[in-house]
Amino acid sequence: AASLPTRSPGTNADLFARAQAAIPGGVNSPVRAFRSVGGTPRFLVSARGPYVTDAEGREYVDLVAGWGPAILGHADPRVIEAVTDAARRGLSFGSSTPAETELAELVEQRVAPVEQLRLVSTGTEATMSAIRLARGFTGRDLLVKFAGHYHGHSDGLLAEAGSGLATFALPGSAGVPADIAALTLVLPYNDLDAVRAAFADHGDRIAAVIVEAAAANMGVVPPLPGFNRALVDLAHAHGALVISDEVLTGFRVSKAGWWGVERGTDGEYTPDLLTFGKVIGGGMPVAALGGRADIMQQLAPVGPVYQAGTLSGNPVAVAAGVATLRAADAAVYAHLDAAAATISSAVSDALAAEGVAHAVQRAGNLFSFVFGDGVASGVTDYAGVQRQEGWRYAPFFHAMLDAGVSLPPSVYEAWFVTAAHDDAAIGRIVEALPAAARAAASA
Ligand code: PMP
Repeated sequence: AASLPTRSPGTNADLFARAQAAIPGGVNSPVRAFRSVGGTPRFLVSARGPYVTDAEGREYVDLVAGWGPAILGHADPRVIEAVTDAARRGLSFGSSTPAETELAELVEQRVAPVEQLRLVSTGTEATMSAIRLARGFTGRDLLVKFAGHYHGHSDGLLAEAGSGLATFALPGSAGVPADIAALTLVLPYNDLDAVRAAFADHGDRIAAVIVEAAAANMGVVPPLPGFNRALVDLAHAHGALVISDEVLTGFRVSKAGWWGVERGTDGEYTPDLLTFGKVIGGGMPVAALGGRADIMQQLAPVGPVYQAGTLSGNPVAVAAGVATLRAADAAVYAHLDAAAATISSAVSDALAAEGVAHAVQRAGNLFSFVFGDGVASGVTDYAGVQRQEGWRYAPFFHAMLDAGVSLPPSVYEAWFVTAAHDDAAIGRIVEALPAAARAAASA
C-alpha cells in the first residue's frame, strides 16, 4: 500500500505563511486568497461527497464544489475508478485516443448546436480559441462582451470582467496592450438597446458577441427571457457570430446546460459556438469549444485557424469527463435542483428572520444572494450587483465557515451544490444559518 505522510501538514495559518513566501499571494488563482472576506484560507487535503477536509482535520460542508465541476460530489467512486484505470495505462500519449471521440460524442448528443467539438485544457483556452475562430471565420476584429461576465484571463476578455476582477473591483488588468483592449466593446448585460446600438455603430466590424449563457461570475444574474435569442438574431442580422460561454453552466444546470434550460421555450436559440469547462472534465483539466461544423472546420489541421495543445484530450482527464457525463443522469439534475431550492430558500428565510433585505438570484441550480433594500427585487446587470450592501457577505461567510460550511469566498460568485448534498449535509448548512444571518444583520 502507498504510504501517506504521517506528519501533520501544519495549521492553515502556517501553510498560508509558507505559501505566501513561495507563491504570489499564496494562491494559484486570486479569489482563493480570501482577500475580499478577510481571514486565512483553508488548505484542503481531501474531499468526499459534499464535504472537504482541511489540513487541521476540520471537515466542512462544501458549497464551492471545485468551482463547479463536482456535480456528482467529490471523489465519486465511478470517476475515481475511471481515472485510476486510465492512469495505469499511461498519463499522456500526445496522440489520439478512443475516449476523446467518446467525450465529443457525449457532448454532441446532449447539446444539438454542437456539431463538432475540440478539446482543450482550461475554460480560458476554450474562449480564447473560440474568439480566434470567430475572427478567422468572419474576417472581422471586434468582440462584444458584457460587463460583469467572466470568460477567463486571455488579453481581450479582462475588460470589466466578473469573478476575481469583480471581487477586487479591477476595471481590467495591467499588461493588456491598449490596442488589444480597444478591440473589445463592453456593454451592459440584459440591455438589448445597447446591443442594437453597438451593431448600428460597428456592425460590419463585429466578429462575435461572447456571452455567459447565464451570468454567474458576478454572483448569479440570469438572462432576461428572450435575451439570448434576441442576441443571436441581432448578431446574425449583421453577419456576426454568437459564442455562448457555458464553461460554468454546461452540464451543470441541465444535461444540455443553459441552452437546454431555454430549449423548447419562446427563448430557444442556436449559438454558433459554445465553450465548456468545469463539469466536462469532472474535476480534471478538460475544456472544449464546439459548434457549427462549417465554423469548426476552419480549425487546423483542416482550416487556417491555428489551435493546439500538448495536453489537449489528455487521457486521464478525459476519463474523468466521460465518467462524469455518463453518470450525470436525470436523477442527478433533479437532485441538484432540489438541493439548490432547499438551500437557497433556507438562506433567504434566515436572512429575512433577521431583517436583512436581500434577493435570491437564481439560474437553474446556480444561485447567489444580493444584500440591501436597493436590490431586494433582484438585479439584472453588473451595475445592479454593485449597488448591493456587499459588506454584509464577509461576516456571513465567516460565521458559516466557523460552523463548518465552506461558501465561495466572495459575494461575486455563485454557490454550487452537488448530487451528494444529502439531508445530513443540508441539515448542517441550515443549522449554521441563524448565526450567520445575525452576523450579516449587524454588519
Ligand atoms: N468562462 C466562464 C463562464 C467561467 O466561469 C470561467 C471560470 N470560472 C472561465 C470561462 C475560465 O475557465 P478557466 O478558469 O478554466 O480558465
